[in-house]
Amino acid sequence: MPIIDVHAHVTPERFKEAIRKEGSWYGLGPAVGEIQHGGFAKGLEERFAEMDRDGIQMQLLSPTIGFYQYGNELDVTKTVARECNDEVAEMVAAHPDRFAGVGTLPMQDVDAAVIELQRVMGDKGLKGAILDDHVLGRTYDEPEFRPFFAAADELSAVLFFHQGGDTCVVHRISRYKLGNAIGNLADRTITFASLVMGGVMDQYTNFKPLLAHAGGYTAFGVARMDKTAGALKPDRAENGEMRPPFGRAEGEYDLPRPPSEYLDRFYYDCCTYDEEALRFLIDKVGIERVMLGTDYPAPMFLEDPVNWINGLDSLTGAEKQQILSGNASALLGLS
Ligand SMILES: [Zn+2]
Repeated sequence: MPIIDVHAHVTPERFKEAIRKEGSWYGLGPAVGEIQHGGFAKGLEERFAEMDRDGIQMQLLSPTIGFYQYGNELDVTKTVARECNDEVAEMVAAHPDRFAGVGTLPMQDVDAAVIELQRVMGDKGLKGAILDDHVLGRTYDEPEFRPFFAAADELSAVLFFHQGGDTCVVHRISRYKLGNAIGNLADRTITFASLVMGGVMDQYTNFKPLLAHAGGYTAFGVARMDKTAGALKPDRAENGEMRPPFGRAEGEYDLPRPPSEYLDRFYYDCCTYDEEALRFLIDKVGIERVMLGTDYPAPMFLEDPVNWINGLDSLTGAEKQQILSGNASALLGLS
């Protein structure tokens, strides 16, 4: 089975060409494609060379996050999404042994997002979509997103949750790149919590949520969610009923099980940069849920990832195989 990197971005060549020739693409400037970071400017040959250097046979391609464009005019967002997704689909079709892909969606309009998801997962052959952790500040427990999750569920879509733009942390502090260092992980934890505690995970059981950056603080912090959900002693009743210590606000979903019991409904990349953190994640969510994800070609790329995984003393040989290959193969339907 191939070694698969599920966290690998691509800035479309059609974007780069338009930037070179005209300075913009559908009104978007060069920063959207992050080509100021050298990695995103690289072409296909360099991508292959670096995959080969690192021993990675396949990447699950996702459009660079600047192309989310949820706050843009809907027609622009739809066009940008279609163009990005067409290029990802062309890369997959030309090199099916090297690439699988997910698309980006115009999430500010659920109907349009569903149409594009159906399109990319139809004859375009993609596996699902990459999504920001929120849509213009709206989290995914909001009722307006239920038709989207219904469609994703129907399609068994991989939904790759990955921040775009400012994270929640920059509202507190914008220095030291903490919006990335802490914010990416905080935003991912909010996504887990809102999907679980809002009832989305109970209503839809067939879509495949993949959390970038190892799910952020989710695995470490989930016991506190259990506590506020009333799942721990002394709040939990003899009959098992969860009794939230602060009560439950009007209209809030009545969660039937502790949030920690949903950890193994999600998938996680291994992008922790730390052996103990990765081991902890595996022990909390289950080995079959963790897979290689490097954040290629971003500055935060997990350096020499395959050798890193293979060199970790705390993982068994079977666990390394699952992380590098088996789990992603199963997730993407390759095995
Ligand atoms: Zn990334």
